[in-house]
Amino acid sequence: MKKQGSDGSPAPVMPPLPEPLKDLKIEHTKIFINNEWHNSVSGKKFAVFNPATEEKICEVEEGDKADVDKAVKAARKAFELGSAWRTMDASERGRLLNKLADLVERDRLILATMETIDGGKLFSTSYLMDLGACIKTLRYYAGWADKVHGRTVPIDGNFFTFTRHEPIGVCGQIIPWNFPLVMFIWKIAPALCCGNTVVVKPAEQTPLSALYMGSLIKEAGFPPGVVNIVPGFGPTAGAAISHHMDIDKVAFTGSTEVGKLIKEAAGKSNLKRVTLELGGKSPNIIFADADLDAAVEFAHIGLFYHQGQCCSAGSRIFVEEPIYDEFVRRSIERAKKYTLGDPLKPGVQQGPQVSKITSFLVILDTTILD
Ligand code: ADP
Repeated sequence: MKKQGSDGSPAPVMPPLPEPLKDLKIEHTKIFINNEWHNSVSGKKFAVFNPATEEKICEVEEGDKADVDKAVKAARKAFELGSAWRTMDASERGRLLNKLADLVERDRLILATMETIDGGKLFSTSYLMDLGACIKTLRYYAGWADKVHGRTVPIDGNFFTFTRHEPIGVCGQIIPWNFPLVMFIWKIAPALCCGNTVVVKPAEQTPLSALYMGSLIKEAGFPPGVVNIVPGFGPTAGAAISHHMDIDKVAFTGSTEVGKLIKEAAGKSNLKRVTLELGGKSPNIIFADADLDAAVEFAHIGLFYHQGQCCSAGSRIFVEEPIYDEFVRRSIERAKKYTLGDPLKPGVQQGPQVSKITSFLVILDTTILD
């Protein structure tokens, strides 16, 4: 019998889960500009750790303002009128994004293993959920590339009036560590589909999958300078992006505090456009007539998914009074059943927090509804 979701809909089709790679080699640790690998201008590198074992995985070139400047120059050149990117048919941009999706699909196991080693996410989540979302997102935006339409406007008089959507230009994109590859794809795919060029800064805790994507972007055939990836820290590389006078837009996902800094920097520099995706405190609301087992289970997943490290973690739960005590009792029971351990191992349900600094308390904040 086909498995069903809780609402009776068919469960999503998932590929079989393979074993994680045992001998993953990290080959891409440098700054990616103009489809080439660069050392940092300062000569600095930073260490990347496996949060499950606390072992150093490798060192990555540490980009800062000088490297961001180089990356922006490359992105600007790639965006110039007459460049390979600007003269490319929209359908060809779509083909390149689809090709990138093919390559991510081909290297799904490498990327999922890397994501787990670098960020501590359960391997099953990395492989099935994150990589699945990455491939679908790339294909979704590939389809949009030649469907970005303007409008005709029936104004009075003998005039022909129309609107046309143009790419914005060079987009700076700053991403967090909880969904490193998903965030990378969510940022680059829509920007590229519309013909922009990008400078991406992955989070300092989890730069590896983004750098690996540099190699796939080159292999897919994107022209040099269209995608540039500068690993580094927030107050240096990140701030250089948000303050840059030649970046037309910055897209940021991360904390509310840093979001405020990004908006301020955009205002103080060139009034670049800003998109912010910040933290949340997403509530679940559970009424007395709910299926209590399902409610406990989904509230549990909502809170504990990826060790609670989600902007949409369901860390506030409103429960109607008659079932409050029972809900709390069953929730505690459910939480105690969790198997903690190495996220690469099958059967483990919770891995490590991403780093000591970013570890935080997952607080179950239940409230009685009456
Ligand atoms: P979190 O608290 O979830 O770690 P942050 O907002 O600190 O989230 O980090 C998200 C991203 O923002 C990371 O890539 C980080 O390097 C970057 N970042 C941190 N501080 C700044 C800053 N001052 N300016 C620009 N980017 C920053």
